[in-house]
Amino acid sequence: MKQKKLLYTGKAKSVYRTDAKGTLIVEFRDDITAFDGGKKDTLKNKGSYNAGVSAFFFSYLEKNGVNTHFLEMLDTNRMAVRELSMIPLEVIVRNFAAGSIVRNYPFKEGSPLKPPVIVIDYKDDSRHDPMLNDELIIALKLATPAELKKIKAIALRINTLLSGLLAKQGITLVDFKLEFGRQRSTIYLGDEISMDSMRLWDKKTGESLDKDVYRFNKGDVMATYNRVAARITKAQKPAAAGKKTPVPKKR
Ligand code: C5P
Repeated sequence: MKQKKLLYTGKAKSVYRTDAKGTLIVEFRDDITAFDGGKKDTLKNKGSYNAGVSAFFFSYLEKNGVNTHFLEMLDTNRMAVRELSMIPLEVIVRNFAAGSIVRNYPFKEGSPLKPPVIVIDYKDDSRHDPMLNDELIIALKLATPAELKKIKAIALRINTLLSGLLAKQGITLVDFKLEFGRQRSTIYLGDEISMDSMRLWDKKTGESLDKDVYRFNKGDVMATYNRVAARITKAQKPAAAGKKTPVPKKR
């Protein structure tokens, strides 16, 4: 497969056309940002860790009946994906109170949220991703009521699958963000699931194993990403038929 024109550059990923119809390439770059782009760095190998973990989760989810855009890893940083028409929603699932929900509401950090809380933001940097509700999503025609119901159900299913998988490695899935897209009438999980988009706590020590290490200068970001990527990807071998098993490698 040949990489063609650059379609889109985000804060940490670039998306390219390919010579294969309906297939795009997502490149996970070594860039890391936080606070709406207010803090920025380039950290060697970061892209490969996030790509490897995302591919691992996508394969695991596919194996368990969740449709994702993932097709295969092309190298340590580049993933072939299904072309989707992306829905500009950031679907956040929270199992424990942390981050913005603690800043904005009277939740105590670390308190369990049972059932999990789904928060959906409008993906629009110029508006700082404002929080939506169902009525706004429908009024803005971002998704139909049936699609919204489906998206929430898929998000909760992913939460159950990934919480269980991570628990086996002694990791608590505190919260995470998902993005979805359509191909004809089917909803697929798109974007990434990585240390950049999840909040992970070590079950024994409570230590942060995710982008909070970068956001709040909690230690060596790349040492954490390296360790957590190895820990996650050995949780269970993803054996999705026809898909290459991704192994995050140090370049
Ligand atoms: O900042 P906040 O607490 O709302 O983030 C909740 C979860 O969603 C965190 O795991 C965070 O990394 C993720 N997130 C993200 N991209 C955003 C906003 C949040 O990956 N634009």
